[in-house]
Amino acid sequence: MSYKPVGITESSIFPPRVENRITKGTTDPYLLTQRALNSLGGVIGTDGKPAICLRVDDWHDHLKGGGADGLGYAKKFQDRGLPWGHASLAKQGAQPWFTVATFEDERAWVKAGAEVWSHGTDHKDPRLFDGQFAEPVPGTPNGMYEQIVGSKALIEAENIKCKGWMNPGPTNAFPPEAPYWPDANLKWSDYDSLAGRLILGTYGFSSGFQTGAPSRILPNRIYHGHNHYTVLTAGLEWATVEGVINNFADGNYAGMGMELLIHTAYVENQSPFTEAQYDAMLDLVKSLWDAGVIEVVTPAGLMAADPTTSFRLDLIRNGDVSNLSPADPKPWTMTAGTTVTTSGSDTYFHVASGAGANIPIRNLDDQDLNGETWLFDGWARSGGSGATVASVKIPDPEDTGRLNVSKTFTIPTGPTWTRVRFPFGTLLSTNQIRPAIGRSSGDATQWKSAHIYKV
Ligand SMILES: [Zn+2]
Repeated sequence: MSYKPVGITESSIFPPRVENRITKGTTDPYLLTQRALNSLGGVIGTDGKPAICLRVDDWHDHLKGGGADGLGYAKKFQDRGLPWGHASLAKQGAQPWFTVATFEDERAWVKAGAEVWSHGTDHKDPRLFDGQFAEPVPGTPNGMYEQIVGSKALIEAENIKCKGWMNPGPTNAFPPEAPYWPDANLKWSDYDSLAGRLILGTYGFSSGFQTGAPSRILPNRIYHGHNHYTVLTAGLEWATVEGVINNFADGNYAGMGMELLIHTAYVENQSPFTEAQYDAMLDLVKSLWDAGVIEVVTPAGLMAADPTTSFRLDLIRNGDVSNLSPADPKPWTMTAGTTVTTSGSDTYFHVASGAGANIPIRNLDDQDLNGETWLFDGWARSGGSGATVASVKIPDPEDTGRLNVSKTFTIPTGPTWTRVRFPFGTLLSTNQIRPAIGRSSGDATQWKSAHIYKV
């Protein structure tokens, strides 16, 4: 699509109504934040634990094809089942590191558990937008509008929900004022500016360079301006980063939160990090999460992370099989070969054959839940004397081209329940999903529970 620069002046600072499914035209900062929080389920309970989110800025081509194996850095999150956030440009080809990857790749990352924030249209000086001026003209705001407001519309035109604004550090020589420019001395009063009012009038959440590096207080009721902890930057050693992450495990940052910002390409040039150390960083975060020491959330999820509660929005309201009627386990549908079985203190789906049990989840759009990132979280075990391969399928039943998650998990023999957990996301146009839990191969699969939590 072509996007026409819009001229605005200081006296008409808020953008005109932008076609936008999420905000539905709202430019009121309070309503925007309320809507954004609603899409998170209001609160992301961490049950007393600190929370870390992983954020990658830029470097689309490295996410797609980087690393020694050439399979890309995005795959490293997927392989570990880690949700993450991407600060993305709205224009493919606008920078040399976004020329091979496309928005088709971005959509694939979203479906595999990434959320997307706007990082501007092109990461350049706003006053040079699309070469409007031979050199920056101070006080000419057209490009600022495009970078902040237009970029969100462009990303959402790609069928991807834009969760908020993550400031770029413009690479040209004439930075605009805070809060657009990375200013460590950012003040809340800086938002009473052209850039600040455009950010507040377009996004429910934005990040900046104020507090929160490396840790921020949780729960936090401030939704604009938080800083991040940047790893993979010149001179920063892995041991230092490891120490910061372990501070969350050691109780030094008990109940607090951190946004860990990663520039993936720096593994291959500017950073002392090796790729093995990068992998070790993700492994450490994953192992602390699996051990129940920290929670891993998305950057948007961190905005609503709250250690004082364990509540999370759950798309599957009847996910504990013990609560279901064995003869009629509504709203689940069991296919032939699946029964509700009780043994000892456990009640579960026993899937001997067939497609298992599935449950319809509708009207995501009506709830402003389309385009969100989720965490499948279930418990399975083998129902026989050998191992079983459990399966989880999450299609968009109206169009499997929009979403068709299909995963298998090898579960060893024995009575122990194994947690099956992974993130996934939908595109904006997905309004229904129909998760199915079942068996792929091996002995029978038993499922005790299945939930889809906001993350
Ligand atoms: Zn950047």
